[in-house]
Amino acid sequence: MTETESDVVTYDQRGEVAVVTMNRPRYRNAQNSAMTYALDDAFYRAAADDGVKVVVLAGAGEHFSAGHDIGTPGRDVDTSFERRAGLWWDHVGKQGVESRYARESEVYLGMCRRWRELPKPTVAMVQGACVAGGLMLAWCCDLIVAADDAFFADPVVRMGIPGVEYFAHPWVMGPRFAKEFLFTGDRIGAERALALGMVNRVVPRAALEDETFALAGRIAKMPRLGLALTKKAVNQAEDLMGMRAGMDSVFGLHHAAHAHNAEVGGDSLAGQTARSMKQD
Ligand code: ZN
Repeated sequence: MTETESDVVTYDQRGEVAVVTMNRPRYRNAQNSAMTYALDDAFYRAAADDGVKVVVLAGAGEHFSAGHDIGTPGRDVDTSFERRAGLWWDHVGKQGVESRYARESEVYLGMCRRWRELPKPTVAMVQGACVAGGLMLAWCCDLIVAADDAFFADPVVRMGIPGVEYFAHPWVMGPRFAKEFLFTGDRIGAERALALGMVNRVVPRAALEDETFALAGRIAKMPRLGLALTKKAVNQAEDLMGMRAGMDSVFGLHHAAHAHNAEVGGDSLAGQTARSMKQD
């Protein structure tokens, strides 16, 4: 089956709950730019639809998301898309930091921040791998319901890079464990994530959908404006705890690392590939 731009994300509605599903199961839902913009379309649609109160973000197949696409046939880093997260120039046709900073500001950090501000509650429904760029998608949702087979990891320190672009680690798992999580690159299971406060609940894999939609349905009974203001209140509190400013400063370190890799080696990922990053 060939992959088309239109089917990398699907959109459905169950009652007052919109279901946005990443749909590249063959590639463990690796996120390319086509998927980023399809997700953005889906979230925009859910935000605008008065019949939608809550949004569930899901991943088709065995895994939620294995991260950013660094090696599938659909990798599209050199493709232009209509920029939506900011007014920075298009990355295509530029070189070095001028290209890389523009692209990651738009496609990664900017888009995740944009989705975090969606004025309706969002629930990530996570099974299997939730790794590196996959963490960003789960973390920018308000709630995370994890299956008991879910696992989480950010191994990008292997690339010499201090964590993924949406650097929420110290705020979602505490600074002490964030260091261990990043220093080792090790996977943590759903129960550990629950103990750290990084996910809301852990349920058996077979019950993941039922439990997630039951929770989303309960939230959907609340008044729309009340939910939107409550979400904004907690997001503002998180930002007052330094998350937004912290992410901005770490984004600079992240790009220093990419630039270092490109300067001393051949590429900004320190020669790592999807295959090498999977090794323990
Ligand atoms: Zn990066």
